[in-house]
Order: sequence, then C-alpha cells, then structure tokens
Amino acid sequence: MLLVKDELLDGVLQSLVQQVDGPLAAIVRRTPLSVLAGCSRDGGQVRAWLTELDAPSELVGFCHALFANDDVGSDVRHGSYGDWQLLGGPISWHSTDAVLILVADPATPLVVCTTALESCLDICDRLSKVAHASVERYRLDDLVTDIATVLTGVSGHQLQTVLDSTLETICRMLGIDTCFLRRNDLEQRASILIAEWPRRQHVPDPDPLRTVPFDSDDPVFSSLETLAAPVLITPSSAQNRYQERIQVAIGGPAVSLAMVPLRPSDVTEGVLGFIHFGERAWTDAEIRALRVIAGLLAQVLARVDAEDRLHTLAYRDVLTGLPNRRVFLEEIANRLATTSTQPFTLLVVDLDRLKTTNDTFGHTAGDALITASAQRLSTACGKTDLVARLDGDEFVLILDSVTTAEAACHAATTILGDLRVPLMIGAQPIQRSASIGAVTSWQGASVHELMRSADMALLEAKSHGGDEVVIFDDILDQRTRRRGDLELRLGGAIDDGEFELFYQPEFDLRTRRITGVEALIRWNHPERGLLSADEFIPVAEQTNRIRRLGRWVTWQACTQLANWAHLSRENPIRMAVNVSPGEFLAVDFVDDLRAAIGATGIQPRSLCLEITESSVIRDIRTVVSTLHELRTLGVELAIDDFGTGHSSLAQLKDLPVDVLKIDRSFAMGIETDPSERAIVTGILGLAQSFNLDTVVEGVETEAAARILVDLGCIRAQGYLMAPAVSAASMTELLHNDRTLSHRSKLLTSRKHP
Ligand code: C2E
Ligand code: CA
Ligand code: CA
Repeated sequence: MLLVKDELLDGVLQSLVQQVDGPLAAIVRRTPLSVLAGCSRDGGQVRAWLTELDAPSELVGFCHALFANDDVGSDVRHGSYGDWQLLGGPISWHSTDAVLILVADPATPLVVCTTALESCLDICDRLSKVAHASVERYRLDDLVTDIATVLTGVSGHQLQTVLDSTLETICRMLGIDTCFLRRNDLEQRASILIAEWPRRQHVPDPDPLRTVPFDSDDPVFSSLETLAAPVLITPSSAQNRYQERIQVAIGGPAVSLAMVPLRPSDVTEGVLGFIHFGERAWTDAEIRALRVIAGLLAQVLARVDAEDRLHTLAYRDVLTGLPNRRVFLEEIANRLATTSTQPFTLLVVDLDRLKTTNDTFGHTAGDALITASAQRLSTACGKTDLVARLDGDEFVLILDSVTTAEAACHAATTILGDLRVPLMIGAQPIQRSASIGAVTSWQGASVHELMRSADMALLEAKSHGGDEVVIFDDILDQRTRRRGDLELRLGGAIDDGEFELFYQPEFDLRTRRITGVEALIRWNHPERGLLSADEFIPVAEQTNRIRRLGRWVTWQACTQLANWAHLSRENPIRMAVNVSPGEFLAVDFVDDLRAAIGATGIQPRSLCLEITESSVIRDIRTVVSTLHELRTLGVELAIDDFGTGHSSLAQLKDLPVDVLKIDRSFAMGIETDPSERAIVTGILGLAQSFNLDTVVEGVETEAAARILVDLGCIRAQGYLMAPAVSAASMTELLHNDRTLSHRSKLLTSRKHP
C-alpha cells in the first residue's frame, strides 16, 4: 500500500505508481505476499493497488501511525490486521511522505516476509530519490506560477498585503522560518525593509533592520547596494556581524541565510532573503525558483511605482505638492455623502495681487510665495482637514472641526493673519495679503452649491479690495442671485428698451439755478421695478456689456440734449454723461461719439464726459491719448468721484481735463467731520491753481450747502436740489429755470455760460 501525505503530490504519485508497478508485481508473483499500494489524502480515501483487498480503516490507521513519526528512516514497522501480518516501510522525500505496506497471511514465514520487505525497501529508496527530485520541481513550478498569478493583477493599495502573503507562501512551501523583502533607496543610500514574514512580535525601536545604510559595517548589508548574484550564508560561515544583528532583531540562534537580488537591469533594486534557524541546505532548483520570484517582485514594484507617479501627477499639484482640484472635489463629495449631521467649513483662499508679485519680482518669487502660502495653510489645518490648490493663486480648505459661521470667521481671520506675515524672497521681505470666502455646510448641500457659496463670499471679499474675510450668508446669497439675474437679462434688456436715462440737475449753490444736468441710467426691470445705476452698472462692466449699454447712453443723451436745445438757444444746456473705463478704452469710442454729435447736431462743448479718478489713474497712458482726441473733438472732460482714488492732483495736472467732481462722501461728512472740510478746502485750492472747475456731489442739507459756499464751492449736485428725475420731469425743471432765468437775467451770477 502506498500512502501519500500531501494532496499537492497527487500528480507525483501517479508517476511513482507507474514506476513501481513492474518491480512490485514481480515481488507479489514470487512470494505469497500481497503488496498494498495506494494513496491517501489526509487519512481520507485510500486507493488499493496491486491487490484485491479493500483498504479497511485499520490499515489506514496503521499507515498513519507510520506518518505520525516523521523520521521513520528505513525502519520496518510491524502491525496486524485480523489474522494478517502487516509490514510497512517509508518512502520519503522530505520526511515520511508515503508508505508501502506488505500484507501476509499468518502462515507465511517471517523470513520470507522480511526478505521481500527488504527488496521493497530498496524500491522505496529508489522511489524516494525519484520522488524527491520530481516533487521539488513540481512544488517549485507550482509556487512560481501561483505567485506570478497573484502578483500580476496587484494594485498599489493591495501591494503590502500581497507582499506579506507572498512571503508567507514561499516560507511555508519551502519550510523556511522567516523571509524578508528589502528595497534599495539610492537617494538615502540605504536598504529599506518593506515586508517580512512572519511579522516580528516585538520590534525594537529603532528597528535595527528597518533602514540599514549601505556603508554599514555589516558586510551583508553593505553588499546589498550592488548585490548581483544569490548569496548563501550558513551558521558556519564567518558572517559574525550579520549573525549578531539578526540575533538582536529576531532573538534567535545562528541562522542560514539565502539572499536573491532584485535586479531587473544592471541596477540592484533590492533583495529577497530567507532565514532558517540553524543549518539549511539550498538546492539549485530552489535558488532558481527564488530568482524567478525576485524577478517578478522587481517587476511588480516597478509597475506600482510608475502607477504611483501617475497617480501623483493626476492627484497632486506639482508646485506645492498639495492635493489638487480632483482630490478636493472627491473629498468634499465624500464628506457631504456621509450621513453625519456635523457641518464642516469650506474656505476659498485667493492670494491678493499675485500678478503684481510675478511682474515685479519675477515668476520664481511668485512660485515661492505660492509654496510658502501652501505651507502656512497646511500648518493651520488639523489632521483630518484638507488643503488643496485649485489653480494659480487659489486654495481651498475643508475644516472639519469648524461647524459654525462664527468659528469659520475666527478660523479664516487667523489664517489671513498667518498669510500676512512677511516672507523673505531672496533678501527682500515681501508682504502679501489674501481674500477669503467661507461657508459652513448645511444639511442637503451639494458640492456645487457649497463651492458657489464660498466663491460668492470670495468675490465679495475681493470686490472690497481684498485682504478680507467674508462669510457666506443669506443676504450675500440674495444679493448674488439678484446680480446673476441681472447678468442674464442685461443683453435682452437693451434690445427690449428697458433702459431709460434720468437726469439730475447741477446747480449754483448760491442762486439755486440749474447749471447743467447729469444723465444717470435707470433700468425699468419688468419684475423689480426701477433699478438705479449702482445696482447694474458694475454687472455690465464685469460682463463686457458696458460697451453696448454705453453706446445707447451716448446716443440717447445726445438726442435728449438736441431736444432741449429749443429751451435756451443762446445758453445751451450742459449735460454730463458717465463713461466707464471699458467704454472709454474701446477703439471706436471716439468715432462713435463723433457720429452721435454729428447726427444729433448738438454742440460738442455742451457735452461733458465723466470718467472716474480710479480708472484714469489705472490706465493713465492709454487714457491720455483718448483724452486728447476728445479734447480735439471739443467735448468737456471731468474727473468723477475725485478724492476716493488716492491720486494726487499733481498726477492729474497734465491731463486735459476741465472739471473735478468731488466725491459725495466729502459733502456728506462735511457737517460733522472737520477733517473733511480741510480736505475739501485743499482740493478746491489745488483745483483753482490748476485752473480746473469743481462740482461737489451729494449735497443733501442746507447746512452742508452753507459750509460749501463758505469754502468757495459754487457748483453742486444733490438731493437738496433734486434727485435724478425722468426726462419729462427734467424738461419741466429746465423750463421753469429758464423762464426764471429769462426774467432775472441780470441778477444771475452764474460762473458758467
Ligand atoms: P456718479 O456718477 O457718482 O453718480 C452720482 C450718483 O449719486 C447717482 O447714483 C445719484 O443718484 C447719486 N446721488 C445724487 N445726489 C445724491 C445725494 O445727494 N445723496 C446721495 N446719497 N446720492 C446722490 P446712481 O444713479 O445710482 O449712479 C451710480 C453710479 O453709476 C454713478 O455714480 C456712475 O458712476 C454710474 N452711472 C450712472 N449712469 C451711468 C451711465 O449712463 N453710464 C455709466 N457708464 N455709468 C453710469
Ligand atoms: Ca458722474
Ligand atoms: Ca460721482
């Protein structure tokens, strides 16, 4: 009977059976003995061979008694089954792997039995040798195929688990005590442990095996940098330092070691190593198989590295190393998808005037600023928080522990403070600010809604000039929605004739007579009624609709002026028209104005164009040439909102302008704030020395009017006289004024014709 322990060896057994078939049959022929041969799976099925006998359980029990002693050697075992005598001998290629059993009836003399058994044992011996070779080949081929299959599909996040289980499989299959995989880190010039089996229970800290420099005094580790061929070390070989290190790290006796390099090209990338406590011999076939496995491991590690790099490219911002937009969107979606009701805060951070930094100090400085800001933002965040760079100068933060608007405001203000801390770029300290929009998440919010809200808050912060934190709330939401609606309807509204020009008189503060009018646009919004210019002009300016709207205003104003010409032929009405920078800088602006003047037949001198101080200063070079063209055309020019744009009069003195309109904030503060008075006095004095006329806006009270007159202000606008009114009402005002003027012509003391 032939029994085999290991189910893996079924295939081997089949070939054994064929080889012993002839010799055993001869023994059976020559003796009164039966030979039982067969195989068993872990005490399960027993296949009888060369005999008619079934294999009853007693026989199986006898076989297992043989197996139980792993080291049977060539002992012959005796047993009995009923009246039958049983003799057994081992076939072994590792330990006792199979048994051959002779069965004799009680009449057969023991000598015959023993002689027959001896021939059988010879056969067993031969079989053992053949089996040993083929079993090993069989096991190793299988091992390599199995490992190749597992490694082929492995992805980065499974890698560690698969490496661990691969090492375990190798150890178990080859009966080795421990196994490790190390990689060479060429930058650190060290060998790094990346997997081991079994995991050590007590790893010393620091772990002497984790990172071992190539220039270690241990000859084994120092060989790892360039290891090109397998190395075998046994307890008897003189690698004392290595044995010592292993004893410290593992706490075991002297060991046998096999190391196979991971060397897919002519660079050694790591090592696959095996440690067996005590002496162990390595066969050539084993080393060959381990080389193949090391090759497979090298391939997988290289592939996962490449995938990691691609992943980094796809998910990381190259400059700062922060997660990118994609990661951020995934993260925020995850947080919103979790059922937790705990809100979190989203901050959008935009560095102010990054372009100026780039222009002034160069792009390297700009990059340094971005990187430093990224670091500061990361430092400000907790472990579970996320900082990502969206693009250019824009970052986002998800703050998990910030759950209320007040806390968001506090956190954002702190972060803004961090970002303001000056940064050394070269020898130069650069201080930069940022704008931050924040929103706290609410139940049921979508990624889009949350982002949009934070962006709204950011835009609001930017629109105030930056260096500010704005928290999203309902008021901001409504305002933004209204803006969005205006933006959508603006184009159509021009075609549908929803715009109308209103006119506000400019008057002489002393005589209260009208000295001119200013055209101010209104929108008859079908749902929201009459909208004042402040509500939609900024929208038109930002969406490039201002050019079309401005052209409509110019033609409408010129037409109206022509209509009023009959009111006072010898004393034509002066009309001021506001011009946005976007219109003013357009190439056909002057031509179009010339056409409007020509078509309506108005006198160019009766038209005054108002441009704001800030836009003049911002684009002073381009503006100057247009101003000269307009001067040539004959229209008057005024600087609007003067005093708000931080320009000095000196900057304006060379510009071909005629009038300064002093911003309404001065007139409105003049009664209560003595410093406003001083500023107005200053502006008036300078204007006079540059030979410019002045108009004060926003005069609402008699008291303010009196103070202004005292300061020498004559021309004014404001609710004290009249707000902006429709063309029809203005016609009436003008008519009354001109009639009055006609009657008391001699009494008027108007400075301007
Ligand atoms: P602005 O040129 O400074 O116009 C004066 C603004 O102050 C007007 O607001 C006017 O209604 C308001 N105002 C007049 N008197 C007083 C007063 O005594 N007290 C107060 N508190 N306010 C007074 P409006 O019409 O809303 O225009 C706002 C701005 O929109 C204008 O400022 C001007 O810059 C721009 N704008 C108006 N119409 C047009 C236009 O047709 N084209 C362009 N491009 N911009 C325009
Ligand atoms: Ca104006
Ligand atoms: Ca103004």
